[in-house]
Amino acid sequence: MTSAAMEKGTLIVGGGVVGLAVGWMLARRGEPVTLLEKGKTGREASWAAAGMLAPATEVAYQEDLNLMLGLESMRLYPEFVAELQQASGMDVDYRTEGALEVSFCADDTARLRHILGYQQEKNLPVRSLSVTDALEMEPTLSGFLSAAAFCGMDHQVDPRLLTTALKKAYLLAGGVLREDCEVTRFVLEAGRPPAVMAGEERISAKRVLLAAGAWSGSLAGLPDKLRPPVRPVKGQMLSFQMGAIPSLTHFLRVVRVPEIYMVPKSDGRLIVGATVEEMGFDRRLTGGGIYELLKGAWESVPQVYDLPLLETWTGFRPGSRDNAPILGQTAFPGLFVATGHHRNGILTTPATAVHMASLMLEGRPPDILKPFSPDRF
Ligand SMILES: Cc1cc2nc3c(=O)[nH]c(=O)nc-3n(C[C@H](O)[C@H](O)[C@H](O)COP(=O)(O)OP(=O)(O)OC[C@H]3O[C@@H](n4cnc5c(N)ncnc54)[C@H](O)[C@@H]3O)c2cc1C
Repeated sequence: MTSAAMEKGTLIVGGGVVGLAVGWMLARRGEPVTLLEKGKTGREASWAAAGMLAPATEVAYQEDLNLMLGLESMRLYPEFVAELQQASGMDVDYRTEGALEVSFCADDTARLRHILGYQQEKNLPVRSLSVTDALEMEPTLSGFLSAAAFCGMDHQVDPRLLTTALKKAYLLAGGVLREDCEVTRFVLEAGRPPAVMAGEERISAKRVLLAAGAWSGSLAGLPDKLRPPVRPVKGQMLSFQMGAIPSLTHFLRVVRVPEIYMVPKSDGRLIVGATVEEMGFDRRLTGGGIYELLKGAWESVPQVYDLPLLETWTGFRPGSRDNAPILGQTAFPGLFVATGHHRNGILTTPATAVHMASLMLEGRPPDILKPFSPDRF
């Protein structure tokens, strides 16, 4: 066994959007940081995501606490993106055209109206639209459109560009990255700083952050009371190439139908997602999953029938027991957790990064993190 002593700095386990963003925030504040990633950075849930930044249109799926964190993150997003783009020299395709919620049958219309009432009760800026106005905004929507609402506040980003930019910015800020380096076990001994094993190598640090996404609940060496209750929530996705039909290159906004969503990217991809499945770490696509996505997309925008299919993929959302993120210090001194971001980890990245970095460097949890503490379970 070899031992790497970096007792002064911070060690991060997991190089998804969460680990990279916290790492970047710490490194730019002068903290020595080493990030260990079992594969390549940004290739798991953060690669799979559609990149919707949707506190308002996701409200039906979340508790008030998640809404609060989502709104805080939306407040931080413009500055976070500007600084990241400047630090990395990359564009992350941050787009602010807003999102349409639409329905094509009576059942979905009733549901849309119900959610709209709830969004308005929460003072979220979502307004009902006439069918004519909605078709004017997105002319490729099916003529069977029966109701629509618009939310200008919900934005989007390209999560693959975001993680690539975060990796660049992290390295340029002096962060150390070790890819293909799997943490096999935590070593937590009373009176000693937290440490991990990566193969035969023992690495300890003043602070260790567990940010291993859907794998955060299954690492060896964590006693049950410190283990974040996180499970993989599988999502199947696909993308089309829009350029093949000229009118579809004008598809601008995120479009959400109850069962699916469609997210147009500036590089011409139209992303369609996503299933929500409790299937453990089973990465396989299924006929049923892809059928539901294709059916929902075709019913909403019939022209997709003729579009080239570009890619299909799956990813694992890190879902906690109450579906809210787990953010904070554990009962073991120096061991921190940032995981459980479930459906909204791209949205909540700036709030996670900014506030976790403050907690880790200053020692006091910002008020906004208190309800997400790991000891709530
Ligand atoms: C299909 C789908 C669509 C989504 N759409 C959206 C969306 O539109 N908007 C939104 O806000 N969110 C969305 N999400 C959710 C979002 O992607 C996640 O919440 C977020 O990416 C979680 O980031 P993470 O860094 O915690 O996890 P991950 O990106 O999974 O990263 C965890 C990393 O830890 C590494 N790791 C694991 N175990 C170890 C180990 N033992 N040692 C070293 N490294 C390890 C993994 O290899 C991985 O790289 C979506 C998710 C999915 C699956």
